[in-house]
Amino acid sequence: MLEIDDKLISLDIIDKEFACDLKKCKGNCCVFGDSGAPMEESEIQTIEENYEQIKPYMTNRGLEEIEKQGFFTIDSDKEMVTPLIDNLACAYISYDGDIALCAIERAFLDKKIDFQKPVSCHLYPIRITKYSKFSAVNYDKWDICKSALKKGKQEKSYLYKYLETPIKRKYGDAFYEQLKYAAEHLDTENL
Ligand code: SF4
Repeated sequence: MLEIDDKLISLDIIDKEFACDLKKCKGNCCVFGDSGAPMEESEIQTIEENYEQIKPYMTNRGLEEIEKQGFFTIDSDKEMVTPLIDNLACAYISYDGDIALCAIERAFLDKKIDFQKPVSCHLYPIRITKYSKFSAVNYDKWDICKSALKKGKQEKSYLYKYLETPIKRKYGDAFYEQLKYAAEHLDTENL
């Protein structure tokens, strides 16, 4: 475990090799799960403001669920999360053939909006749990991502490097530099 500021960071973040392989995993992290992705209040507002630009990328079922449930829902941990379709797929899902993508991100990549997607989705498979005095930053191990472990190993792509942009988005450049320093100087195998 590493400690930077008020964050406790699993060593997996610096020593796990990971790179998403969408052709193999089909973007299934957006399709399965027992809860939606965590959302921040400001993100819900941004999605609401940009909804007309996001809608064309969504599925009919996703549109119906947003109509029914609203832009977010509250899960069993009392957190604000993305609504689900039939308690499985994220309502903001979009498909390119058989690959699941994020409708919000597609609108962003097409330069229709300037918000990429909720930061929790951007950070996945890093998951953050907030406690009163600190945040726990963990790698969320899930079988559907096993192709990413293989690709990460082939490409020598470490999780913290792979997710540099979202980590900086969440915690800033200075935090990332400290994490990078730790990754480059710690001998995690002998800790
Ligand atoms: S997080 Fe996992 S399921 Fe989602 S795109 Fe990456 S490898 Fe695929």
